[in-house]
Amino acid sequence: MILILLGPPGAGKGTQAKLLASKLQIPHISTGDMFRDHKARGTELGKTVDAIMSSGGLVPDDVTNAMVKDRLSRPDVAGGFILDGYPRTTAQAGFLDQVLVSMGRKLDRAVSYEIAQELLVDRMSGRRSCPTCGAVYHVTANPPRTAGACDREGAALVQRDDDKAETVARRLREYDSKTEPLKRYYHERGSLSEVAGTGAPDEVLAAALRVLGRAS
Ligand SMILES: [Zn+2]
Repeated sequence: MILILLGPPGAGKGTQAKLLASKLQIPHISTGDMFRDHKARGTELGKTVDAIMSSGGLVPDDVTNAMVKDRLSRPDVAGGFILDGYPRTTAQAGFLDQVLVSMGRKLDRAVSYEIAQELLVDRMSGRRSCPTCGAVYHVTANPPRTAGACDREGAALVQRDDDKAETVARRLREYDSKTEPLKRYYHERGSLSEVAGTGAPDEVLAAALRVLGRAS
């Protein structure tokens, strides 16, 4: 089964990708892991990405596309795979379709995790981090034993700028505006499935397996 996953920041897409990969016994391919792998192996693509990222730039489509194509030439994808973090644009989606055609294969489903924006803002803006040891808490879902203090060494917890409500809301608006065309692309091709991203990870996994016809 060949799947791509779409989901806003904070929706638990990475967790779902791992759960699905283990359930379906196919590799989970994330762009972050691909970048790190090329960097670690010191490939030309890895050096290119490293140079771009350390100067704060965005990795251009042709570089990401080349990495994806390279990854999909490995034997472990024979039984299918899950792409996480790619494609991000309709241009990348078109490239992926071409690569799949050249492999004599096609995408089975684009799974989009749907979750109300207010819920995501709530989830993410409740995070508190320990500046000393890096532990992460949540004011309601995973509170420290003493409010505002790390369980390990008692340091005062802080809210990272990335977790502030207005930052989260802005990132979600950006996600929506970037992802809408991609969802339309897959909807027009009859490949889009929307899955409720609310609920515990195993519930979300069960909902995804149902739309994929793999419910046990
Ligand atoms: Zn700590």
